[in-house]
Order: sequence, then C-alpha cells, then structure tokens
Amino acid sequence: MATTLVEPGVQEVGKSKTSTKYVYSFGGGKADGNGKMKDVLGGKGAGLAEMTNAGLPVPPGFTIQTEACREYMRQGGVSEEVDRQMDAALARLESLQGQKLGKGDNPLLVSVRSGAKFSMPGMMDTILNLGLNDESVEALGKKSNNPRFAYDSYRRLIQMFGNVVLDIEKHAFDEVFDGKKKQRKVKLDTELDAKALKEVIAEYKKVVKREAKRDFPQDPHEQLVMARDAVFRSWQNERAKHYRRINNIDDMLGTAVNVQAMVFGNLGETSGTGVGFTRNPAIGTKEFYGEFLMNAQGEDVVAGIRTPVHISELEKVMPDVYRQLHEITTRLEQHYRDMQDFEFTIQEGKLYMLQTRNGKRTGIAAVRVAIQMVEEGLITKEEAIFRVEPNQLYDFLVPRLDEKKTKVEVLATGLPASPGAAVGQIVFTADEAVEKAGHGAKKNPVILVRAETTPEDIHGMEVAAGILTSRGGMTSHAAVVTRGMGKCCVAGAGDIHVDEKARVMTVKGEKFREGDWISLDGKLDAIPPKADDPELLKLMGWAEPFRKLRVRANADIPRDAIQARAFGAEGIGLCRTEHMFFAEDRIPHMQAMILANNEKDRRQALKKLLPMQRSDFIGVFKAMDGFAVTIRLLDPPLHEFLPRREDLMVDIAVLPNAAAKEKKAMVEKYGRFGAKGAGDLKKVLPTLLRRVEELHEFNPMLGHRGCRLGITYPEISEMQARAIFEAAVAVAKDGVKVHPEVMIPLTATLKEMANQAAIVHRVANEVFKEKQRKVDYMVGTMIELPRAALVADEIAKEAQFFSFGTNDLTQTTFGFSRDDINKILPTYLAEGILKQDPFAVLDREGVGQLVKMATERGRKTRPELKVGICGEHGGEPSSVEFCHQVGLNYVSCSPFRVLTARLAAAQAAAIDKLGVEGGRTK
Ligand code: PEP
Ligand code: MG
Repeated sequence: MATTLVEPGVQEVGKSKTSTKYVYSFGGGKADGNGKMKDVLGGKGAGLAEMTNAGLPVPPGFTIQTEACREYMRQGGVSEEVDRQMDAALARLESLQGQKLGKGDNPLLVSVRSGAKFSMPGMMDTILNLGLNDESVEALGKKSNNPRFAYDSYRRLIQMFGNVVLDIEKHAFDEVFDGKKKQRKVKLDTELDAKALKEVIAEYKKVVKREAKRDFPQDPHEQLVMARDAVFRSWQNERAKHYRRINNIDDMLGTAVNVQAMVFGNLGETSGTGVGFTRNPAIGTKEFYGEFLMNAQGEDVVAGIRTPVHISELEKVMPDVYRQLHEITTRLEQHYRDMQDFEFTIQEGKLYMLQTRNGKRTGIAAVRVAIQMVEEGLITKEEAIFRVEPNQLYDFLVPRLDEKKTKVEVLATGLPASPGAAVGQIVFTADEAVEKAGHGAKKNPVILVRAETTPEDIHGMEVAAGILTSRGGMTSHAAVVTRGMGKCCVAGAGDIHVDEKARVMTVKGEKFREGDWISLDGKLDAIPPKADDPELLKLMGWAEPFRKLRVRANADIPRDAIQARAFGAEGIGLCRTEHMFFAEDRIPHMQAMILANNEKDRRQALKKLLPMQRSDFIGVFKAMDGFAVTIRLLDPPLHEFLPRREDLMVDIAVLPNAAAKEKKAMVEKYGRFGAKGAGDLKKVLPTLLRRVEELHEFNPMLGHRGCRLGITYPEISEMQARAIFEAAVAVAKDGVKVHPEVMIPLTATLKEMANQAAIVHRVANEVFKEKQRKVDYMVGTMIELPRAALVADEIAKEAQFFSFGTNDLTQTTFGFSRDDINKILPTYLAEGILKQDPFAVLDREGVGQLVKMATERGRKTRPELKVGICGEHGGEPSSVEFCHQVGLNYVSCSPFRVLTARLAAAQAAAIDKLGVEGGRTK
C-alpha cells in the first residue's frame, strides 16, 4: 500500500485532495493541535492547545498557523482557503460559546494576538475587544450592567485597531484622551465616566476618519480579517526584525495568529489580570513568583503602565483563585519540565489561563533552575546542560559597583529586575540611546531612563549599558527583555519622576538631564554571582566531560592570564606582543626603534626593549604553568606607535605663533621624541613628520604589517624570539612547565613562513646554547588571508600549528574594513543582505569554508597539525560550534568569554554524542 507523507501542518482532506490545515481550534476540553506543534502553531498557540487538552480553564478560540503568515509574506495576502477555514473555526467558536461575534444581546468578543515559534515579548501586535461596534457596545453595557466598562473597552479597541491595523500614530488618540481628562479635570483614566468615554469614542472615530481616510469598521467580520492581516504584517515591523536579529531567529518562520474569546479582568473588583513565573526568573529561587492588578486589562500589567502587586497578595484577596492558579502552574511546570511564564485573567471570580511558555531568565537563574530540576528528577543532567545559553554565563561575571572604593550616594531604589551594574550618561529615548552610544572605539555608555519601556524601545535597549524605569514590576517589558539580554535593569524606581518630553528626571527635587552621569546596581544581595559559584561549577562539571575543543584565552599581560586561568582557560591562544610596547616606560624605545633610519640604531633601541619584553613573558609563562602560550610576533603597522600625521601638521603650522603655554604642552607631547625644551620643537616636529610620511600608507591594514615587518626588519623578530626563549629558559629553571608557541602573523606564502621560522629556530638554538638548557616549542602561523588558506598544505610544511585570525580573515575575505563596517552594517542587516555581523558571528558559508579547507589541507601535509582560532569568534557560541564541527583543536577568546566558550564547546560535542537537538531556551 502506498503511503502519503504528510508534513506537519498539512492534513489530508477527502480522498484525493491534500490541502493545508491552516486553522486549529481549541476549546471545550479538546484542541486540534498540541504542545509539540510550535513550528506550526507558534509558542502561544501550542501552549493554548496543550492547556486545553489538559483540561485547564482556557478561553476557547483558534490558531491560524504560521504557514498562512508565510503565505501572506510571499503573496501580500492569504488564500481563500485560509478565509474559509477561519470562518468555519469562528462558527465553531460561536456555537461553543452560544454567542455571535459582535452581535446580539450577548456579543462574542475576541482577542487577536501574535504568537511565533520563539517568544518575542511585545514585538508584534495584539488587538483586544474585537467585535465591539456602536451596537454591541450597548449590548455589552447592558449585559455587564456596567456601561463604563463597555465604553472603555470600545475606546481601547478603536485605539488599538487604529494604531495597529490602520497605522495611526498613538499620540493622535492620546491627545484626545488627555484632552478629555483635562476638560473633566481628572487625573486618572479610571476617573472618566461612561459619558466622557462615549465622547472620547466619538472623537476617536473622527481621528480614524481624518488619519486613515475611512470609517472605523462596524462589521465585526471585517474587523477580524483586517486584524488578522495586521498581525501577520507585524512580523515584518522594524522592532520585530530587530529583535530577531539580536536573538538569531529566522526571518522566514512567520507568526501564528491566535483568536480567542475575550475574558475581562476589568469587570470590577472581583476581576483582575496578572503574569507570573513558576520560579524566580532573576535569581532562580524556587518560589511562586508573579504580579497582578485587580480591575485591569492584560496590557496594563505587561506594559508596566501601573505598578502591579505581588502575587502573594492574591492569596489574601481571593484565596481559592490563588490556590487554583498555584496548582495549575505547578502542573504546567511539571508537564513542560521547565520554568513557566504564564498569563492569567480572573473574570468575576473565575480564573482563566491565557498563556504559558518557557520563561526567560537570567544566566544565574538558568543555572540554578536547571540544577534544581535535575535534583527534583524533572530533567536529566544531559538536558540540564542545554538549559543555559553559553552567553548567559556572562551573568556570573557581571560587574558590580565597588562601594568600597567609591563612595556611592544612593539616589533611589527600585526592583533588581536584571543583575549587573552600569555607569553611563542619561538618555531619555531609544533613538538618542543609539545616537549617543556610538560604535567601536567611539563607544559611549548610556543609561536609558524611561517611565516604562515599550517594544518600540528595543533598539535603544540593545545599545544601552543599563535601563532604569520609574514604573513597572519584575514582569514589565523592561525587566523581561533585559533579563534576556543579560543587561542591568532597575525597574519601578518609584522615587524618580521621568519627564521624557522635557528630558528631565527628578529625584527628590533634584533634577537630572540628558548627559548627566548615573550608575545602576541591579545587585542581588541574597546570592551574589561569581565565577566560582558552586552551582555554576556543578553545571559545568556535568557539561565539561563532553567537550572536545580546548579553550584558551587571548591575553597579553600576566594579570589577564591569571584571570583567564581562574575562568578555566587551558592556555593562551594569542598574546599580542604589540600591547606590551604601549606602556609608558616602553613606548619611547619603541618609537626610537621606528624613527631609526639604520639597522644599528634600530638594534640599539630593540636592545632596550628586550629585557622588558622578557619580563612580560616570564609573568605570562608563570601564570600559565603547564599550558601552552602562543605568542605572536609584532603585527600592526609601525605608524600606529607614532603621532597622527594630521596632528603633526597642525602643530607645525601653529608653532611659530604659539604661546608659551601651548609650547609647553607640545614639549610634553613630543618629549619622548627628543623635544626636551620648546627650542627643540622646530627641529623635532618636521623630522617626525618626515618619518610619519615615509610610513604613511593608503591601506595600512593591507600594508607594511604582520610578517612583512619581520621580513623587512628581521632584527625585530630576532629580539622578540630572544625575549621569548630567554624567558622560557628562565622559568623552566624555576620548575615552570613552559610551552611557547611562536606565531607568525599575516603570512600568505610558504616562503614568508620559512623566512620567519628560520629566524625563530636560529635564535632558539642560540639561546639554548647560551643558557645550556632547552625547552620544547613550536613555530606556527596565523591564517588571516584567503591565500594562506588556499595554500595551507604548503604553509604547513613549515608551520607546526595554525591559528585562524578570523578578524582579519573576515576582513580580507569579504573585503570589509573591520574598523569601518558600521557605516554599512546597519543597512545590510536591515535589508537582510547579511543576517549577522560577520565580525561577531563567523560566516560559515564563506569564511568558515576557508577555515575548514585550510584545516584539511594543512593536515594533509602534517596530520598532527594543531589548529585553533583566535579571532573574536573564538568566544561566540555559534562560531565555537562550527569550530567543533570542523575539527579544530582549540578556540581562544578574551578571558571573560572563556566560560561561555567552554559551555558552547561542551554543548556542541554533547549534541553529537547524545544525538539531541540543541534545544536551548529562546
Ligand atoms: C585576527 O585577525 O583575527 C586576530 C586575532 O588578530 P588581530 O585582531 O590582532 O588582527
Ligand atoms: Mg589579525
């Protein structure tokens, strides 16, 4: 018998025709879908189906699956089949409820909400109270015996519909609403009575007519179709795209749309709404954790518009509902075997569950919850290691304010919504945050201060060092999003008043303006996170046995090497020696070396540098006792050590008329170049300029740098090699196990490699002879140029190891300047030309192929070839996974990313070994 393969979400209909099942109903104790169908139903839809099947109190409804959204994206609209199935599901819902959408004495009202596979808090759109119109609002008023509630619901619908579906700016409605409050001389929204709200509705309709050039649709079915399509479109709005980019979510997934019978939390004092977590999402303690508001509608809590009260209060107000909620959410957690984030509404004393999903949490909470769940027998240790995103481990290393060193004046306190500390300049809008935060070397820390954040602020939150809000609780938008970002957030600081329009924050009468510096501390007094946290060590202890890749650190000085070891680094993968020359006592000798115009003078200067460099290496070798240390010979173009050409030109021009004070400043600046007094400037500056001009290059990144320096000035490589081996022999004599790996930068040909390797081997032998002692060492190269990758088999004849310098390899493969990429990157990302910044996440298709090919070719020549990576990608989880897959021996990254790289490498190997899908919480 022939079998038909049916894809998920595609169902056989009839005998011969196969058509897509677009709409899945839930309600009355059963659902078409289930919790496993996140791809099809989205997270929310799958959760609703699962809860319905489990017999939990869920308002009935239906989910229009993600394929309809993809269809909408492809074709600019949905097919008739979607409409047909939606109408059938609506009819089913109407008959289940015994109500008609927006019609009759007891009209059915629905919510229309987005729900993608991975939760994207608040990034897409929602419409509530759909089905209300001029007639049904009266019916609702009568039925509820509460006309004020009915008019309030209707004006909310027009406002949401106007904004989301008809693209009318929010402030057009706010003006009307605030105007009415002023006219009635009231402060709170709730103080507007039914009559006033009726007038607001009339005004709102005029706003719709004026702005959208059409009437607010009175036909409930038309409202539904338009709302559905608008939610599909919201998948493509800027903030949703931005969120996906930050969280690495595929643009092609699309969202589902959930249409669900409305339940009202704003029906009076026995109604309410809230959100919660089954465990504390900030610190991971096992506690029932949530917030609610009586007499409020859902968005009021999440949007942080009113500061909600702790869930424990619900026990006092409605003990039965509290107990039921606690029992249901405990069951949900057991069922999903993960911490749940849930939403509920109480309508006139009856509890309804509106959502459940795996909750976002800080890294600290992720580790603690994973361990608790293993101990409770809910998950296995193998599962536990995937419950933590490697990047989240940074939370254990988050900075805290050093109150011992600096006297900190506490201005105000709020809720520690997301841990860490931040110092920065105040900005009041997300756009300003982006503008002021800058990029790369010009980065400037900013603190985004808002009354509350909304999803529209996502781009500003991403660049800010920290977030401060005056309103909202631990489940507010700001809190949820920052926890996901691993960024410090203090929320609901009630003592501060934020006037975003006037750009002023007032704290106890004191005013703070844009640009003022403040600090935040999201301190968790109870359990301060640190790298040797016992629970972190426990989780790492479960993960580490899987790991195949070694993890090293990029460190240039002994202090960083010691730090890296504390985080578990197994050696140094890149010691950039040039950084050693910038120290105050060294730069004059370095500059003298560069200014020398003959070999003799150059050697003279290098001689002075030798002991300094040797003592640095001694420190690093000692810190890494027992592990390999890869030391790279000088790489950057020499002009980087000299003053800027433009500065010199200006100083030369102003010198003749300079005042004594200016001359004094110049002497200070150029003292190290031989300007002992003002009289010397006239000679020193032009000499310096001449040398700077000689060294000037149009394209220094492709210029006189890397091994090209060592080849043209062999005495530099000689001095460095001598410093390395003298240091190695010295520490070996003291019993330190030392394994130097000398690395030649920016090679492109075998002959370059041979040239430099010959120098290193010669000097090594000289030193060993002089000191009567040998140490094991290797000479290898960085692979940073496409040519090097192409001829890797040749280069491996001389190179005993490879280390991919993927910063330069990305630069030279794409032809993007690593220092100027930010001019084009935002557009490339927005246009989808690039999915991610290739300097942050390894481009597997291009650069990655070079990495793979060079590894294979190199090992063809030298099967035991050691291969690593030391570009920034070495600490980025997806790049680490790739390095594992292509068989590298190690990754090397900055000390603060060592923990992340260790977990990412362990997860990559565990995926292989256990044959599981990564399954990280998104
Ligand atoms: C690289 O290019 O990836 C690298 C590690 O070297 P640098 O960043 O110092 O150029
Ligand atoms: Mg490089």
